Amino acid sequence: MADINLSRITKSFGDYRAVNQVSLDIHDGEFVALLGPSGCGKTTLLRLLAGFEEPDQGVIALGGQAVADPVNGVMINPEARNLGIVFQSYALWPHMSVARNVGYPLEVRGLGRAEREAKIAEALSIVALEPYADRSPTELSGGQRQRVALARCLVMEPRAVLLDEPLANLDVHLRETMQQAFLDFHRRAGATMIYVTHDQAEAMAMADRIAVMDKGCIRQMAAPETLYREPADHMVAGFVGAGAVLPIGDVSMRGAGRCSVRLGDAAIHARICQKAASNMNELGLCLRPEDVWVDEAGTLRGSVEDCVYLGGRFRLQVRVGADQVLPVYATKRARIGETVGLVISDGWVFNRSEV
Ligand code: ADP
Ligand code: MG
Repeated sequence: MADINLSRITKSFGDYRAVNQVSLDIHDGEFVALLGPSGCGKTTLLRLLAGFEEPDQGVIALGGQAVADPVNGVMINPEARNLGIVFQSYALWPHMSVARNVGYPLEVRGLGRAEREAKIAEALSIVALEPYADRSPTELSGGQRQRVALARCLVMEPRAVLLDEPLANLDVHLRETMQQAFLDFHRRAGATMIYVTHDQAEAMAMADRIAVMDKGCIRQMAAPETLYREPADHMVAGFVGAGAVLPIGDVSMRGAGRCSVRLGDAAIHARICQKAASNMNELGLCLRPEDVWVDEAGTLRGSVEDCVYLGGRFRLQVRVGADQVLPVYATKRARIGETVGLVISDGWVFNRSEV
């Protein structure tokens, strides 16, 4: 396994820049999710890494060695990069047993039978499919087939495993089971993994760090908690987790990283990002629903526009201004149209103008 470094990678198709100046450093053994809306360039970035596409500019290095560097004429082919790749469609051969599917890349490499069998057994045990070795893939569920595809990529002992929306075809329950299977695999194998998804909950649940992509650029790369609590910009705040971003004007600083914000008749204590503190133009306030409480003593008043039961709690949409609606969790059902008081315990202030 190896570190992966991308430095200012750009890739265009005709006039269209699918990947724009992307730099990423992924550590050996790390589980990184590449998260972004459909069409933002995730698959293209993965294909550049794997060697199926050549960057127009920039350098890609695996374990400190350049594998793509157009300025210096370096372009190492996909096989020689030795990365394992798992796509959304599993592409198994129906006429071969599970074991033979898994071992096929080793046959191609010309490994002897005993060595093949040992490696197949190990890979099948990592994905917990040993009892299915002699079955046909057609007898397996979607999740089991996806695990066969993962085992087939593992027998090659890749330097890293790239997964492109591997669970997109599976139903919700199976997805959760498979997420756990991928995480168990990551813990056992210690593999460097890059997991592409457009599903923020999936990225949050699985990754050590998440790179949020939009229109070919990386907007922010950070641990899930940091992305959620301290989004770098409007796009990240809106894409990762529920909440609202409100335009605000009046901010007074209250010591390092803290500020006070006026919202209606209320004064809110919030955290402020360093960049916003040094440039107070076009500020936005990100409020997550768990930081807002219905409380009759609250000086911020709002009108309930929606109330849905989530199981265990309710989520309200409360209008506090002309274009300001806040999602709020509550323990009791509220009537539509009812006026409620709100208390806000935390918020995050950043620059909206950087969008
Ligand atoms: P994602 O995986 O995030 O959905 P993609 O990387 O597949 O996004 O695509 C990013 C953009 O690049 C899209 O607008 C897509 O249409 C375009 N694109 C991708 N591959 C090609 C290609 N081979 N030729 C032309 N355009 C492409
Ligand atoms: Mg894609």
